[in-house]
Parts: sequence; structure tokens; C-alpha cells
Amino acid sequence: MTTLSNSMTPWERRPVWAQVDLDALRFNTRQLVVRAGQARLMAVVKANAYGHGAAMVAHAALDAGAQGLCVICVDEGVQLRQAGIQAPIWVLGFTPPGQAPDAVHHDLTLAVHTQALADALQASCVAQDRSVSVHVEVETGLNRHGLPPEEAVAFTQALRAHGRLTVEGLFTHFASAEEGDKTFTLQQHQRLMEVARQLPWVPIRHCAATASILDTPQLSMEAVRAGLGLYGYHPAPRCGLDVELRPVLSLHARVARVMDLLPGATVGYGRTWRAEVPSRVALLMVGYADGLPRRLSARAPVLLQGQRASLVGRIAMDMCMVDVGHLPGVQPGDVATLLGQQGNERITADDLATLADSISWEVLAGIRSRVPRRFVRDGLEVAWSDLNHAATPAP
Ligand SMILES: *Cc1c(COP(=O)(O)O)cnc(C)c1O
Repeated sequence: MTTLSNSMTPWERRPVWAQVDLDALRFNTRQLVVRAGQARLMAVVKANAYGHGAAMVAHAALDAGAQGLCVICVDEGVQLRQAGIQAPIWVLGFTPPGQAPDAVHHDLTLAVHTQALADALQASCVAQDRSVSVHVEVETGLNRHGLPPEEAVAFTQALRAHGRLTVEGLFTHFASAEEGDKTFTLQQHQRLMEVARQLPWVPIRHCAATASILDTPQLSMEAVRAGLGLYGYHPAPRCGLDVELRPVLSLHARVARVMDLLPGATVGYGRTWRAEVPSRVALLMVGYADGLPRRLSARAPVLLQGQRASLVGRIAMDMCMVDVGHLPGVQPGDVATLLGQQGNERITADDLATLADSISWEVLAGIRSRVPRRFVRDGLEVAWSDLNHAATPAP
């Protein structure tokens, strides 16, 4: 549990919090482990575990059957090591050679995209008298940082001259695996397999993220990289719906104030909402700097007393207002849910993504570190994260 400077819970200090349900996370992990069959499941915890809290999520996913973790940059991997994680950590982004010493020191498994990085890793290994595993990314259609197939074969073979590096993996990343038409996904897989056939000594081949784990599990090979599914969402409306997943994160705020307004009064910047009749509005201290997209102004629902209410006026940096004219019992201190469930009503990241013209990944990863995270496991509160999202699990 994070030590706070006084005995108040974070939501007493600031009445907005995200609850992270580690039981749902473990459930989703087990669902995806089963779907992945023989392949080992690597839990993707980049971007602070899509806003859920990387260290807590990593421990929970490993506990539920994940065999390692994936991140994008070396610093994310170092943070996990510093949180006590000993499982394999794959760093799959484009890493500058200057980060080789840290990567070697913390035993991170890097995707190597350049000769400069390979040379720097070899030098760091010699300097620290260690060795590391590396993966090579094959470009098959996303056209970002993978190596074109011909180059990938020669590059991987040449890595064998770097005695301290072991090429453990060959991988690619799909461009449109969640779409109903799988033609391009299968082509991308084929391109990876052609490279792999020329490098039969590389033990692990991987290409599947959540969409492919769900829809094309026959492409799982030796490892899969699950992100979104761990957090309880399907990548697209018709993708893998036979696999139940449970949303992990919910976002709540306590009503800070309730105000009665006379007809003609307006709410918020730009005066975009006007009371036509005597009205009541509730103030929530959560705004776009917390990750509630401003595009949701006057669009997003909010749950209060188990019922739906509507945002009114513009979402500000730090607060927003809700029309509670139809909920006369609402009082300061009541819990409002911006994402999650109350009674029979529920707001999902997919709902907010649709309203904000975005995707569930962005809604989740967009919830800022200013929002305290409350972690629940076995139905009990086990930790709170602070502004630096430094939560570590309770013993
Ligand atoms: C983010 C990422 C994933 C996870 O994708 P999801 O769709 O969230 O499961 C897998 N692989 C790579 C290389 C990634 O960058």
C-alpha cells in the first residue's frame, strides 16, 4: 500500500478515483490463456497497463497464468523490475542504442531493429559480463519499425556473431486483425512464416494481439501478446464474442456540490447549456485533465443512484456538471460513475469511445495519473496508487 502523508484515503483528498478490479483481470487472463492453447501468454502492460497500473496488473496477470510481460520502452521495463517483477519482460518498441546498458542491467529482452542497437547491447553485455535474449521484428504490412523480410533474415543470421546475444524470437504485428475479412492478416502471418522457415533455430514466433487470439487462434504459434482483452474489452463488435471478458476499470467521482438554477441560468464555459425550467445540477471534480475527453461534453451519460443522467455544458479541465433534475435525492458525497456499473445501468469504454469518436484503447489509456487508482482483489481493497502511479501490492 502506498504510504500517504496523512491517514485519508485518496478519494477523501480528491473525490475522483478509478477502481481496478484485479479479480476481473485474472478472469480475463485465464480466458485468454485458454484461448491461446499451447502458446505462452505475454501480458501487454505498456502505458501503465493501459491506465490500470502496470505493477499491480503485472503481478495479477502473472498470478493468473501469464508467463511474461510486454512493454514498449526500456523505462517501462525498468519500472517493472523495480517493482520486483522477475518474469521475462519483452520491450517491443524502437529502442535507441543509448538504452542498452539499462536494458542489459535489468535483463530486459529487446526487439532489435538496428545494427547500432545490436552493437550497443553486445558491448553492454561484455562490460557487465552478462548475456541477453533479443527478438527481431519482421515487417509484414503495418510498415512501422519492422525489418523487411529479406533484410530480417540476413540481419538475424548476422546477430549470431554477437556472442552475448541470443535470438529468442521472431515476430510481427497485425494491421487489421479485428476486421471480419482475415485475408490480410493471413498474408502477414505467411510473410512471417517465410522468414521463420529460413531461421529454424529461432525458438519463439509470435504475431497475435487480442484480436488474433480471439478470432484466429490458429496463428498463436509459440507466444501471444494480450493487451486490450486483459482489460476486459473485445477489439471490435464482432470480434471473439464467444469469449466472455469483464471490464476491469471503472471511474467514479463523488458529487462535490448540488446547485438549484433558475430558468435562464447557464452552465460552464461558453454558456452552452441554459436552464429552460427550474433545474438542479451536480458538480463532479473530474475533467479533461483527468482523461474525460472534452468531446464528451453534453454527450456522455453519468450514473447516479443507479440511474442515467446527462452531462451538461462543456467539460472543463478539472470538473464537469450533471443534470440531476430527475433525481431529487442526489446529495454531495453521492458516488457518480462515469465508466462502469451502477445497479442495472452500465457505461463501457466502448460506449465512451463511440461518443468521442475514439477507440476503447484510447479511453482507457487516457485516464491520467492524477486520478488515484483503487485496487481490489478477492473483493477487498488491497492498494491505492498515488499521483506517480507507484502502487505495489499489499503483502
Ligand atoms: C500494444 C501491442 C499489443 C497488444 O495489443 P492489444 O490489441 O491491446 O491486445 C501487442 N503487440 C504489440 C507489438 C503492441 O504494441
